[in-house]
Order: sequence, then structure tokens, then C-alpha cells
Amino acid sequence: DTIGANLDRAIAAFPDREALVDMASGRRWTYRQFGQAVDTVARGLLAKGVAKGDRVGIWAVNCPEWVLVQYATARIGAIMVNINPAYRAHELTYALNQSGVRLLIASTAYKSSDYRTMVQQTRGDCPALRDVVHIGDPSWDELTAAAETVPADQPAVVQAGLSFDDPVNIQYTSGTTGFPKGATLSHHNILNNGYFVGELVGYTELDRICLPVPFYHCFGMVMGNLAATSHGACMVIPAPTFDPAATLRAVAAERCTSLYGVPTMFIAELSLPEFTSYDLSSLRTGIMAGSPCPVEVMKRVVAEMHMAQVAICYGMTETSPVSTQTRTDDDLERRTETVGRVLPHLEVKVVDPVTGRTVPRGEPGELCTRGYSVMLGYWQEPQRTAEVIDSARWMHTGDLAVMREDGYLAIVGRIKDMIIRGGENVYPREIEEFLYTHPKIADVQVVGVPDERYGEEILACVIPREMTDAPTLEEITAFCQGRLAHFKVPRHLRIVDSFPMTVSGKVRKVELRANFAG
Ligand code: ATP
Ligand code: MG
Repeated sequence: DTIGANLDRAIAAFPDREALVDMASGRRWTYRQFGQAVDTVARGLLAKGVAKGDRVGIWAVNCPEWVLVQYATARIGAIMVNINPAYRAHELTYALNQSGVRLLIASTAYKSSDYRTMVQQTRGDCPALRDVVHIGDPSWDELTAAAETVPADQPAVVQAGLSFDDPVNIQYTSGTTGFPKGATLSHHNILNNGYFVGELVGYTELDRICLPVPFYHCFGMVMGNLAATSHGACMVIPAPTFDPAATLRAVAAERCTSLYGVPTMFIAELSLPEFTSYDLSSLRTGIMAGSPCPVEVMKRVVAEMHMAQVAICYGMTETSPVSTQTRTDDDLERRTETVGRVLPHLEVKVVDPVTGRTVPRGEPGELCTRGYSVMLGYWQEPQRTAEVIDSARWMHTGDLAVMREDGYLAIVGRIKDMIIRGGENVYPREIEEFLYTHPKIADVQVVGVPDERYGEEILACVIPREMTDAPTLEEITAFCQGRLAHFKVPRHLRIVDSFPMTVSGKVRKVELRANFAG
């Protein structure tokens, strides 16, 4: 199936069930209404001259129009380019030019971001950009009004001529380790991935999924939206950007059965002073992904948020994204120590990064994945594509993993984040897990910083529970004494009130390292 054809199945099967709910505006759509709204946008795009293979940029915070544009572009064979809503004018220019966006659909204004002004600043520098539509201003109404000039069945006609191997999406990676890369993904790549992710958490048309994660990222638009529509479930948008209170309010008001987030989002929700006042009893499952989840957080998510079937997913933008996932009946140990096992129809292996040979179970190495989920390539960057996808079609993830005896994978860290201190390989995750149990520490990140004697030394960046009662380096050293090997004990400490984050909620360790030097 193409994404559009798959949506048609849901519309036919569940016309009167809800497809989409927007808490901010109070608007809601059944599958029938959603299909009509998608067609209106699709016809509007056709009226604007968007043809198969044209790039349509979307640069917006979460809103229903984002979802409509996702399905409308897929229906008419356009390639949607997801642009990070946190980007400023110069980053927008880069993304628009790198992917050759012809029509840009953008938010109008949100909080301190004035998208209209930023678009005006970039327009002159983007020769391929012909048209801009702002959501919620007259240009959006003009787009939907233009739909009238196109026959009602035109999107279906165009859709019938598409192949599921056609590119449908250019998604930029989070930019955790450097500049974001544009992964080109086909219908086949992301629709299948969304379907299987949803299948493994047991989605049906009765599920209602609360999505506080950004749509711009694959976590939102694939594991959220495509997982929902391929099973007839409902998407609930709690707020335009992550807001812990709005998220729990949406779960309670809409009786959501599933909630998504990266670990830091769950930590923020659990830390709300009024946390116990939300009725979260409708929750059964959810997905946590993007970075490792501390054990204590997982225990509370299961016990206090009722998410007994919460799944951990591992993946990357380049692989549509999910490669491994825990199953709903997995125990706490598997949910905190592993990222689950391989998805149906995919392959994984763990190799020695130098020799390329598969390492024995239990030993760390580079994780490689293969199957339908591997991207078509980085957009117009064959050289960089060839660096990560080898001739046997294995995607080299850059992540270090261990394949356990039970077939579950544990992520040990990124090759780039591994600290080599005096010849010893140190995995930051292990130290973070340990320090997280310190009573004065709310959150912690461990990175390697240059050291004349040992090559690298260990820096702990700590967000204290109370700024006025932050732990000292002496206290941390004493805490580690006898419980952590001497070469893993942090030698440097930074007390901070937040970490530099990507919009997808990941800590940019590169920046923590750079800040230390500067
Ligand atoms: P960039 O490639 O631009 O540096 P990024 O790799 O963070 O950024 P994404 O594609 O959004 O961009 O994220 C994929 C990465 O996230 C994986 O390669 C892995 O390092 C990490 N990751 C994803 N899921 C998990 C998980 N469950 N546990 C640990 N790490 C994870
Ligand atoms: Mg990456």
C-alpha cells in the first residue's frame, strides 16, 4: 500500500470513529471527516501546481494541519520535508535549499517565534521556493479555497498512479551528534514501520493515543500518526509543543489509552506538583524512545501512570525509525536493561566496528540493521549514504549494542559518546544510571572531556533536586567510593539548571563537552 491507500482502508472500515482531536482548538475529526479534510488540502496543493516528486516543506509546531499536510502530500506523490519548528531563519534556509522545497507550509506565530518574519528573511535566499502558506492565516484559507478548482476525485486518481517505493518524505535527523542529515524515506519504509510498531503494542480502533512528541520527528509522524491510522486508532494532540500539564490533562479528558514521550518528558510529567490530581486510569500502553530510561522512572511510569504495557523502542530516522521494540508482556528488567528485540521482517547484527565481524552474544559492538525500513538514502548525498549503508544493504547505526542470550538488545551508547579514559572504555550510560540514584540529583549527563594525562576525563553535569542544595564533587566522589570502578568516577562536576536539548528531547552531549572547554 501507499500511505494514502492505507488511509482509505481506515476510512472505509471506521468512518465514524474519531481520527484526530486537537486539544488547543477543541476541533475533532472522524475518519470520514479526516479523509475529506485531507482531500481538500491535497486538491489545494494540486491547484498550486504541486506535482509528483515536488518537495513540500512543513515547518510548524504540532497542530491538526500538520497531520492533514502529511497525508495530503502522500496522496498526491509529493515529498514532504519535515523542518524542525525550532529552527531559525538561517537553518530554515539550509533545509529549504538542501531539499529544494517548492512550497512551504509554516506556522504563523507561536510564543516568541514569528514564522512569518523568519520566512520573509529567507525567501530571497531560496531560489526553488515559489510559494508559502501560513497555517491559521488567510493564505491557508486560500489554499483550501483553491481546492474548489480541482475535481474532487483528482487526489484519488493521482494516488492510483503511485508506487509504494516512491519517496514520500525527507526527515532530518535530530542533530544530536552534529548537523542534521536528510533521510529520504518511501511509503513502504514508514508505513510498514508505523504499522508494525502499532501492531506490537496491540493497537485497535479503540485506542486513543496522546502525542506530545513533535510531529516533525519520526517519533510523532510515524510511530504516532502512521501507527494510529494504520490501525484505525485516534490521534490526540495535547498542545503545540511539549507541555507536561497539558499532556496529562489531555490523557484524562480524552481517556487516552496510550501516551508517548522521551524519558525526559515522562520525568517532567511525574514531577508536576499536581501529578496525583490527574485521572490516568485509562492508560494501558505507550512508547518511550529516543534515549535510555532510568529504572526509577520506568517503575513510576508503570505503577503511577498505569502504563503496564509501555514499550521501549529503539531506532533512528534513517531506519523509518524503529528496529527493535519490547513486547507488551516484557518485565521491568527487559524494559529498562534492553531496547527489546527485532521487529518482524527486519534483521539486526552486532559487529566489531574495525573488522566488521559479528561479535559473540554478550559483547559490545556496532549495531547494524537491514530490511524494508532502511531509508532510500540521504537526500542528494550519495557519498554520506555510502558511509552508512554497505553493499549488502546493512545500515551501520553508529550505536554500540550488546545482543543478549535471550535475543534482546541492550544499547550501551553511541560510538561517538564512548569515553576512553587511560585506555579503558567507559560507557556514560552506566555512570548516569548510578548517579541518578543519588538523593540530591534530579538528572545527570556524563561526558568525556580532554585530559592531558588520561586522554579523556569524566565530567558529570548535574541538575540538582534543589539548586540551593546541590551536591559537591567531594560528595559525589564519596558516593561512588567502593561502588564504581575508580576509572569511572567523575573527576569534574558542573551544576546546571538544564541540558542543551534537540527538539526531539535529546541531550546534545557535543554541546556539554564544548561548553566545558569554553
Ligand atoms: P544525529 O544523527 O543528527 O546526530 P540522532 O542520531 O539523535 O541525531 P535520531 O535519528 O533522531 O537522530 O535518533 C536516533 C538515535 O537515538 C539512535 O542512533 C540512538 O543513538 C538513539 N536512540 C534511539 N532510541 C533509543 C533508545 N531506546 N535507547 C537509547 N538510545 C536510543
Ligand atoms: Mg543519528
